[in-house]
Amino acid sequence: MSSAASSYNPRHFLPPTIAMHITRRLEFDAGHRIPNHTSQCKHLHGHRYAIEITLAGEVITTEGDSAQGMVMDFSDVKRIANERVVNVWDHAFLVYRGDKVVMDFLQSMPNHKTVVLEVIPTAENLAKVAFDLLVDAYRDTYGNHLKLARVRLYETPNNWADYSQAA
Ligand SMILES: [Zn+2]
Repeated sequence: MSSAASSYNPRHFLPPTIAMHITRRLEFDAGHRIPNHTSQCKHLHGHRYAIEITLAGEVITTEGDSAQGMVMDFSDVKRIANERVVNVWDHAFLVYRGDKVVMDFLQSMPNHKTVVLEVIPTAENLAKVAFDLLVDAYRDTYGNHLKLARVRLYETPNNWADYSQAA
């Protein structure tokens, strides 16, 4: 190995790692079913879901700004999550577009709050769908490298899925 190769350190070519993360947790109620499941998840049922939104960023140091000392104001984290996901999914039935029998049933109910998904509403898929709905909404307006780092979706207190974008 040459001396040049042995001194190579890929970290020198990457932006500094952001160590500060903040998380806002929100809860909502929704119905779903896993149509192909062989056990009780194939039945129509609901959960008290929880979603945890984790943002990475540097602490804002703008003197006198309302966000000084924060990555993002928690109330803004909550407002965006409510607008994009929580208010949309709360007290809705989350249904896979390919679940024809349930799609037909829900469409027979006037004004029913239904969220049609392109994927089966498992915790894993809901975490990714939520991430995709949120990732563009958390914008870096202070130049503090703010970004959505992870969405954790709890189906029950003991079962959850994490989705994060590869760095
Ligand atoms: Zn379930």
